[in-house]
Amino acid sequence: MDPLDVMMHVDNIKPHFQAIFSADSHEVIGYEVLGRLELGTETISLGHFFHDPNVPDDFKMEIDQQIQDLALQRYMNEKINVDLYLNVHANYFTTDKEDEFLDHFLSYQEKGLDLTHIVIEITEQEFHGDIELLTHTLKYLKTLGVKVAIDDLGTGASNLDRISLIEPDILKVDLLALQNESMSNAYHGVIYSLSLLARKLGAELLFEGIESNYHFHYAWRNNGRYYQGDFLSSTTNQFVSKTILRERFRHDIQQFIQVERSKLTAKFQLTANLNKQLYEQWRQIRKNRSLDEQIDSLAKAMEHIFFRVYVTDEDGFQKTVNLIRTETGWIWDETVKGKNWSWRPYFIENVIRMNEERNGILSDLYNDIETGERIRTFSYPIDQSLYLFLDISPMYLDENEDLLW
Ligand code: CA
Repeated sequence: MDPLDVMMHVDNIKPHFQAIFSADSHEVIGYEVLGRLELGTETISLGHFFHDPNVPDDFKMEIDQQIQDLALQRYMNEKINVDLYLNVHANYFTTDKEDEFLDHFLSYQEKGLDLTHIVIEITEQEFHGDIELLTHTLKYLKTLGVKVAIDDLGTGASNLDRISLIEPDILKVDLLALQNESMSNAYHGVIYSLSLLARKLGAELLFEGIESNYHFHYAWRNNGRYYQGDFLSSTTNQFVSKTILRERFRHDIQQFIQVERSKLTAKFQLTANLNKQLYEQWRQIRKNRSLDEQIDSLAKAMEHIFFRVYVTDEDGFQKTVNLIRTETGWIWDETVKGKNWSWRPYFIENVIRMNEERNGILSDLYNDIETGERIRTFSYPIDQSLYLFLDISPMYLDENEDLLW
């Protein structure tokens, strides 16, 4: 819709609300306010209008202020006691209109609005102003009890350092890009990083754009505390009952727990199984040969599981060749002998664990630098100072689906 058409129908612009649910209480803990143009029986989203860089900020601010006014009035009149999430263009805070916008918003406090129930959603990607000015204003609002959420994460390029500067209370991650299970590993990596960032910042993770059970499950698995999307509750011009989904949440999360349990059990069983097999195989291998020859025998005996095998000492220095399975058989790569791998994630920690527990460790799922495929590594102590590293072939993982999580 043309921005001018939007401006011409200002009186038909109304706030709509989408409920936000919590994984711990299973109840509605807030509503995001979304502007809608009501034309006859049609309800038109204003998302395009607000994200259009060609629409002047003055227009956006006027429309935004009207939506906010109507939303805050209804919120107060209907005595809603959960949080209200307001979308605020970060630019409003750094133009000469700043005081006008802030004063207007803060005037609601005098009318009885509890600011600790207000969450301001800021889109960091669309902000091109002075970041210090923005963080200054947001910090001031936080001293008044207002919470800050960073909006639209996971959809484009976000600046992790800018997010950290803003010190948000909530990170809002959009699952719109997550269509199905075959989504790119890169996307999963982004979500994983955001979940780590939230933990480091002490921020809560809110997943929006939940449009299927798969999305819901995905959000839960990625440590989402809050959930929003049409699969749960669509955007309407009404507030809904706080407990509307309590039973469904209880039931669905119970299923997520069961799935998680069976996958983790599969990993523990594989670990126990590999420990047993490696113990047996290693015992049977004749030790009066070079270490290279010993692991050559081991690799061949277990080639249905592993495609790459080598040994390092406790400091990470490689003591053998890389044994690599190719289509024509196993080859020896001599070039890696003597290299040091102590810089790899978890290396030192895993060596200590193997020593303490005298057991092997199954790694998480990661992308192999050389093959680009998703693999897991099993590491196993063969004596006080030697450790086997065995990369599990993607084919074996495919056959054991529970290991692909
Ligand atoms: Ca938003």
